[in-house]
Amino acid sequence: MADIIQLLPDHVANQIAAGEVVQRPASVVKELLENAIDAGAATIKLIIKDAGKTLVQVIDDGNGMSVTDARLSFERHATSKIRTADDLFQLNTKGFRGEALASIAAIAHVELKTKQEGDDVGTCIVIEGSAVQSQEVVVTPKGTSLSVKNLFFNIPARRNFLKSNVVETRHIIDEFHRVALAHPSIGFVMFHNGSEVFNLPESNYRQRIVNIFGTKTNEKLVPVNEDTEVLKISGFVGKPEFAKKSRGEQFFFVNDRFIKSAYLNHAIGSAFDGLLKDGAHASYFLNLKVNPQTIDINIHPTKTEIKFDDEHTLYAILRSAVKHSLGQFNIAPVLDFERDANLDTPYSYQQKGTPSVTVDRSFNPFADEKQGATNQTSNYRKEPAAHWESLYVGLESKGTQTRQDYSEVHYESEQKNASIFDNGTPVEQKQSTYQFHNKYVVSTVKSGVLFIDQHRAHQRILYEDFLKNITVKEAMSQQLLFPLQLHFSPQEIEIISQLKADLEHTGFVFQTLEEELVEITGVPVSVPESEVSIILEQLISDVENEVPDSNFSATDLLAKSLAKTLAVKTGQSLTVPEQEHLVNALFACKAPSVSPTNRATFITMTVDELDKKFV
Ligand code: ADP
Ligand code: MG
Repeated sequence: MADIIQLLPDHVANQIAAGEVVQRPASVVKELLENAIDAGAATIKLIIKDAGKTLVQVIDDGNGMSVTDARLSFERHATSKIRTADDLFQLNTKGFRGEALASIAAIAHVELKTKQEGDDVGTCIVIEGSAVQSQEVVVTPKGTSLSVKNLFFNIPARRNFLKSNVVETRHIIDEFHRVALAHPSIGFVMFHNGSEVFNLPESNYRQRIVNIFGTKTNEKLVPVNEDTEVLKISGFVGKPEFAKKSRGEQFFFVNDRFIKSAYLNHAIGSAFDGLLKDGAHASYFLNLKVNPQTIDINIHPTKTEIKFDDEHTLYAILRSAVKHSLGQFNIAPVLDFERDANLDTPYSYQQKGTPSVTVDRSFNPFADEKQGATNQTSNYRKEPAAHWESLYVGLESKGTQTRQDYSEVHYESEQKNASIFDNGTPVEQKQSTYQFHNKYVVSTVKSGVLFIDQHRAHQRILYEDFLKNITVKEAMSQQLLFPLQLHFSPQEIEIISQLKADLEHTGFVFQTLEEELVEITGVPVSVPESEVSIILEQLISDVENEVPDSNFSATDLLAKSLAKTLAVKTGQSLTVPEQEHLVNALFACKAPSVSPTNRATFITMTVDELDKKFV
């Protein structure tokens, strides 16, 4: 039989390699930024169009390339960074595989302009799908500019597989952050569709973090420094009270390279043990320096995973360094204060008779945690959702009585009006909540006073409610008499389409969702028709402005956005029953103490603290 094996032509081999190296525009961004860093650039400019689908361009002021090198750089396994296999364990550069440019040139329209210091003119090469279209002499500044246009133009399947511009932009920004954080001494600028997104001047590490994540980050950072024979650690961890639900800001750099490591991440988690609220993730920006001979970077095509010789030791050092910093900067006592007595007070409602909260409990959005207040009191101590009730333990009988009054009044009026917000409810003087400046609701508890921010508290309540509806998909919808027609730009329609399924789970019903028109025939019961356009506009702007983070969840964002729009505003006056409902519903939440954006919903002042003020 005839021989059937043949060597693949270069352009096919390159296209196959590209499958590994270039998954999306963000991969191109990473490779080009890294090449600019390897070239010794002092400033690097990244220019993106249409989330990188139309253009990714990186301009650096580094060493540039000679004519021959410029041409060779697009060959597979062509690299200036290693010569022998031993060099793999002495790496001081980002690149070494020599396949990024070859891969990219196989699947895009590429233009390279480059010039070395001292040369009068530079070289311009145009390559499309691995085929050189032109090579010319050009006038260009020292350094290199590489433009990658129409990514995946010759692989429609890959191009179609790309996500929306919002998602692809997030990936690009993630890569940009990783590279920029690893190199604070290099200046970076990023433009997207003509507008400047980041301008990061050369700076120190703390300044770089702040320039990327905002001025507020500064106060959240706790320095970590450790110098041992096998490992040097420098960088910062976020104070535990600012920890987020999402894993957003978690960065390990090993010898200036961003890497992912679940194992080392665990080391940080265990250093924070007991300091974080449930479900919150520590943020960290940590640089680890190890002997290059003790790691292997060549185990993953995108080089984001590496193999350490002695992971266990690194784990132990990292954990103790972070623990030490947290201790040294006195983080723990702050939290102890937050875990204030109130929430731990033993339950003793039995003696108080049937409380009005029986009614309010039905507002608990979490069905599985709902229970009759009277017959299951003995379990309350173990139920997290019941914590709020302990806040009322030991209230003077007057206070308790007040709630009973509401309860009775509420029952009496039930036939006529099922709403607990019935404004006609006689309040009399016996009330246990007060509204203050149309902004705070003040409520007394056994050990002191609670000041609740009404807007944030209501956001928390609505947020958990929406999240639950989206997750269990059981929201009620109210039918509109006439369909509501709203007009949006195609880009905005894109965003709404991405969230359509989730929106439907909250109770929206879409009849049409096309080019520039949305027609809605049903809305969630809690949403007035007049608010719908505001809600959608807010939602779109939230999606567009969302600070990128690798754990981006559309569901979470939707719930946050709806809660923000619909929550009672500061300045709105609340009736006493409304105040009471707010307090009860808040403490029936899973995480009552923070708003969906992680701000405090209430503060407490204990009797002890008050006493101290009177000495
Ligand atoms: P690698 O970075 O792994 O060596 P690449 O395909 O990314 O492989 O690049 C091939 C070669 O092209 C590099 O080794 C380098 O010599 C040269 N090169 C690429 N980008 C630049 C740049 N921005 N400035 C100078 N030289 C570059
Ligand atoms: Mg490279």
